[in-house]
Order: sequence, then structure tokens, then C-alpha cells
Amino acid sequence: MDKDVYEKYLSAGKIASEARDFGISLIKTGGKFIEVAEKVESKILDSGAALSFPVNIAINDLAAHYSPRNDDELVFKRGDVVKLDVGSHIDGYIADTAITVEIETNKYDKMIKASSDALDFAISHMRANIDLSEIGKIIEGTIKSYGYNSIDNLTGHSLDRYELHSGMSVPGISNTFCRVKPKPGDVIAIEPFATNGIGHVISGKGSNIYILKPTIKSKIIRDNKLKILFNRMSAKFKTLPFAQRWCNNMSDNIDISLRKLSYLGLVKNYSQLVEQNGGIVTQKEHTVIVMKDGCEVITVT
Ligand code: MN
Ligand code: MN
Repeated sequence: MDKDVYEKYLSAGKIASEARDFGISLIKTGGKFIEVAEKVESKILDSGAALSFPVNIAINDLAAHYSPRNDDELVFKRGDVVKLDVGSHIDGYIADTAITVEIETNKYDKMIKASSDALDFAISHMRANIDLSEIGKIIEGTIKSYGYNSIDNLTGHSLDRYELHSGMSVPGISNTFCRVKPKPGDVIAIEPFATNGIGHVISGKGSNIYILKPTIKSKIIRDNKLKILFNRMSAKFKTLPFAQRWCNNMSDNIDISLRKLSYLGLVKNYSQLVEQNGGIVTQKEHTVIVMKDGCEVITVT
């Protein structure tokens, strides 16, 4: 990896992890989701990085893909198991990191430790040329040793410039056909999920998170206002996920515009991912740079 690119990854990682830890300090009973999301996003921007996806706040049986809208009324409650997932990038070089906390109670300490230990073990084994299904085996084994299930259809992922999921997956289970081996310099997010449910997520309601899907059709949008909006969004978000609330000043009625763009197949909405049996879910995530004999975690302060 080029020195300049490496430096960018390191600073994106530092900024994302500082924002993650700051976000955790804000999560308190009665606090609003939207306030935490906006403060964490502002911190990333103030630190000189850009946002690689909207801050995700997923509670209890929700595993991922919830980011509040501006008018979101949700507040944190005592006993909530909160996953805070944060991403930043510098010049397209992305850091992705997440952590779980339980508000005021300690009922799920062991489950939080299960995903955290699974991540630590996975990191300690990650190196160039390891079969990623080996990492899945380590993750599943660790989580099972605590008496929980690893979610079988959520994975870690390789990252590339302006690409949050660039092709390789890091499975959370051993029983997989995944036989991919990373090379030195590959950047990978590892993110074990533990649950007391069945260990599978299903798509729930739509979310506030979108991604552009430019196709040949984007050249022939007939509605001029929509075309201008699409071009502005493409320039701003490129190939990274974004929130509806980031576009409020880009259109008179952003919800209608997003619906029209979805209808044309130019925007995709992410579904919320919920544990199939309503199990509580914990997650921990770090981004690492793969090296010949190990890996370097970049999402540390
Ligand atoms: Mn993440
Ligand atoms: Mn990730």
C-alpha cells in the first residue's frame, strides 16, 4: 500500500474511533437517537474527514441499518442494547467501526463480551493468505463458547476507495463456501454479531439509508429538477450510502424525490435488518489492514 493511502486510512480510522467513543458517551436514558447521530456525524466532519455512511443506531433485536430521520422521536431507554456503527473516510479511504453498550443494566454483558472476544480472536488470526472461512470458524466458535449464536447472514467485508463492500466477505460462521484469501494491503472490516435468537436476520421496514445505483437510465431522467438532484447527489455521495436527512436542502420534497428515483431504479433503500426470532443482538467491528504476518487495526484512538 502506498504511503499516502496508508496515512489516509490511519487518520480515517482514528477519527472514526474517536467519534464512536464520543457517541457512546452520549448514549443515556432519555437521550434522542437523532441528537447522538448528528453529534457523531458533526464530530467526524469537524475532524476533517467525510462520512462514509450515516451513523447507524440499532437497538435490541435490530442488528443494523437504522439511522434516524430529522423528525425521529426515538429515545434511549434503560436496558436497551445499543449498537453504534460509525464510518468516516478521507479521500475515499474508509474506516468502519461499531460497538455495543447496554444502558444502565448488565443483563447482556456476556453477549457483549462474546462479540467483542470473537473480534479480538479474529483479529489475532487475520493475515494475508488466510482462508476467510477460517476467520468465520473462529468467530462462530468463540460466540458459541459463550452460549450464543453467530448471525449466519451478516458478514464483515473488504473495503476499497469509495466502496464500503468491495467484494470479499468475512463470514460469521464456519459452514460456508467462502474460500477467499486476502492479500497484503487489503483493507477489511471484521464485525461479529452474537445473538440469543436463532442467528439469522431478515429484512424489516425500510430505513433512512440510501445508496445511488447509477445506470444508463440516469442519463435519460426526463424531469429536469430530478436530474439536477441526481447529479448533485452523485457528486456529493458518489458510491457511498447516505441519509435522507443529508439531502433536505437539496430538494423541495426530498421524500417524493427519493421515491421517484427509487422507482426509476437509481436509488436503493436499505431495509432494517432484524433478528428472525426477536433475539437481542450485539456487534463489535474494527477495520484492519492485512499484512503478510498479521494485520493492523486502524479504528483505534
Ligand atoms: Mn459498520
Ligand atoms: Mn461494516
